[in-house]
Amino acid sequence: MDPLLGHVKIVAMLTSTSTALPTKSFVPNLFVRQRRKTREVMVGSVGVGGNNPLRIQSMTTTPTTDVDATVAQTLSLVKAGCEIVRITAPKLADARALGEIKKKLLALGCRVPLVADIHFNPECAMEAANHVEKIRVNPGNYADAKAFKVKEYGDAEYEAELTRIEERFLPLVLKCKTLGRAMRIGCNHGSLSDRIMNRYGDTPAGMVEAALEFVRICRKNDYHRVVLSMKASNPKVMIAAYRLLALRMDEEGMDYPVHSGVTEAGYGEDGRIKSAIGIGSLLNDGIGDTVRVSLTEDPEFEIPVAYQIAQPYQPSSKGEGREEKGDSLTYVDSLYSYTRRPARELSIGPFRMGGEHPVRVINDFSKWLATEKYAKGKALKILGLLEDQLKAGKDNVPEILEWTVATRAELDVLQDCRRALGGETSRLAFMGRFSDLALAKEGLAHVHLALFAAPRTLAGPERTTQFKEFIRAAQAAKVPVMLESSACERGVLEAARNLLKGVELCEAEGYRDLVLSFNIPSAEALIANTRLAVALLRERGAHADYPFHLRFLGIADESELQIRASVAFGSLLCDGIGDLVQTGTGENALKDLELIYNILQGAGVRITKTEFVSCPSCGRTLFDLQTTTERIKQKIGHLKGVKIAIMGCIVNGPGEMADADFGYVGGAPGKINLYVGKNCVEKGIDFDQSDERLIQLIKSHGKWVDPV
Ligand code: SF4
Repeated sequence: MDPLLGHVKIVAMLTSTSTALPTKSFVPNLFVRQRRKTREVMVGSVGVGGNNPLRIQSMTTTPTTDVDATVAQTLSLVKAGCEIVRITAPKLADARALGEIKKKLLALGCRVPLVADIHFNPECAMEAANHVEKIRVNPGNYADAKAFKVKEYGDAEYEAELTRIEERFLPLVLKCKTLGRAMRIGCNHGSLSDRIMNRYGDTPAGMVEAALEFVRICRKNDYHRVVLSMKASNPKVMIAAYRLLALRMDEEGMDYPVHSGVTEAGYGEDGRIKSAIGIGSLLNDGIGDTVRVSLTEDPEFEIPVAYQIAQPYQPSSKGEGREEKGDSLTYVDSLYSYTRRPARELSIGPFRMGGEHPVRVINDFSKWLATEKYAKGKALKILGLLEDQLKAGKDNVPEILEWTVATRAELDVLQDCRRALGGETSRLAFMGRFSDLALAKEGLAHVHLALFAAPRTLAGPERTTQFKEFIRAAQAAKVPVMLESSACERGVLEAARNLLKGVELCEAEGYRDLVLSFNIPSAEALIANTRLAVALLRERGAHADYPFHLRFLGIADESELQIRASVAFGSLLCDGIGDLVQTGTGENALKDLELIYNILQGAGVRITKTEFVSCPSCGRTLFDLQTTTERIKQKIGHLKGVKIAIMGCIVNGPGEMADADFGYVGGAPGKINLYVGKNCVEKGIDFDQSDERLIQLIKSHGKWVDPV
């Protein structure tokens, strides 16, 4: 039987509950992307799900009762390409203002569907349904409470609570059904109700169950204009939750579309990276029908980022529905909770990789140095600086340098540089990329990792003979070997099969100090091939636990590279795959490094700086989020590993900031509340004293270090 026929078998466990999940995946085929089939839900005149394009949406930040400002921002969003606009309605006055906003927009010829964002107040939802095309409710606070109370619910008591929820939610369901309104049932990781938290914990399973309880009420009443979301600020959590949602919906015969987003992603490069990791990974899995990127920036800036993330997954894009089939191969232990793939440990110069070691960083400096191609003076100066930074324990420095050795002169420079850096006492490691066998054999004495890419003209028996000779030489020199397989025109998954042939050759020679890599400039093909290679290796047995080098080069445009590399690496890293990473345009190696480390931080696999979680702001925001976030970042952005949440309001903020160490939350106009975890420790601080009090709070918890 073709090994790529059949079905992917997954053994999955939840994050923090012991509930076992069925041994099946949320998609028929993990190796070939196919969009999950859903019904079409009309939001006004805009279709979501089905065969519709991935819809792009955003949210206004103006006070809703400022009708003119909200109309102006809605028009501006539409001009930027926004297809559905959400507006907050925390109070009855806001819900009524939606009627005015709708009228003014229609008078101006703007028919964009509006969504009312409701929390806590069913009365607002009922009023808003008179005016707008869609209502968003959060099961965590629509009919349930969140006071972080611990309480055991017996089955009977839990059932009674569900009956109470149905009574509270049903009028809205019936009204939306009568008026033809759509509804998003949107769970957030940070705002699960006490009832759900006590039964399921703070888990993806809890998020999914909270939503499905509401969906079952809709179905019971034959109301199906439903869209679902499972947002979290942690991409690993949201990926797990959306996958579990897809699986559960299939099991219950539900085909509702999905609204995809990473909540409180932050701003700038970090916000874009986190969004691309979460949303892009899921789109690549076939999950997602409408997208919102949440940035702490003007909402118009969210739109191009959302289009950029969604573009390869639009129905018209290539790659959809290829004929290659999946297999009864196990891919990773769990698709529903993060577990790092076990990989054998290797020493690469002074660094250990694989196992529990940090995901290592490799970078190609040769293009950057090319202005004076391998001019010894310049190369040495730069390498000396990098070495000093490593010695000083700085973050964001390269650990392994890739060095292309195609000529004798290049090998000479490498040799000289290594000698000048102190030879074996150097803190930098080097990987040699060789194409000439004689140079490769000689160069093994000067590198810590070696790759032999014989020219294509040597394909066939001659290449195989050379390759074997190289492997024997590497084995004798005790230098680990990187095996690389390139994109192949014969089939999207051919690169994985070719990589496995290389593994077989090395194993036949008795050499297993291998690092596996693909040279593929497409995020989607890289993910598919890496997944298949991981699955095929698992079939070979526990000994085939070779570490993976995730390499994504070949995109010159910086913003495109930022998004696509985040999707490619984020998707794999959040599945626990990847031990060494490399990306960049090659124009500026230090900038490339910054991107790599930011992606590792965004995926939560290697933390090298302060983690900021900041809400995107909305009509409830009590201070200027953009300037405040920037100001606080300037003051405490050097605190490595500390997670700070900056939230615009008390209504939603404390719940949404979930697992932050410290919270800075708008408590009232001009007043800030400070949190440690989920506990409010200082209330009503004057805005102009709030930064200093936050710093004092961090100091009092022993998490402060002075900036250097
Ligand atoms: S935390 Fe408050 S201000 Fe920020 S987006 Fe959420 S509801 Fe709006």
